[in-house]
Amino acid sequence: MLVSRLSEESITQKAKENWLSYWKYFSKSSHEKCSVPNCAKNHNQAIFVADPNDQQESIYVVPLCAEHGNNESNQLEIQDNVELVPIGFTL
Ligand SMILES: [Zn+2]
Repeated sequence: MLVSRLSEESITQKAKENWLSYWKYFSKSSHEKCSVPNCAKNHNQAIFVADPNDQQESIYVVPLCAEHGNNESNQLEIQDNVELVPIGFTL
């Protein structure tokens, strides 16, 4: 599935790691790999994305490896079975 990557200039590396902890906490999957299809690396950070087909424009967290997490592209292809965890849950 294709998702839009949200602007994240103000998000530090440490924050991306914290968002990965958030994703692990709320997702029901124990998926250890990056969300990009055919990427065999383990995820080590998470970023914000939006589903272009979502009318409510919710923001979701998805886990990625360092290489894909730091990629500057606006759109990102991720595996269809990756669990999108909405931001806004309270820890
Ligand atoms: Zn990757």
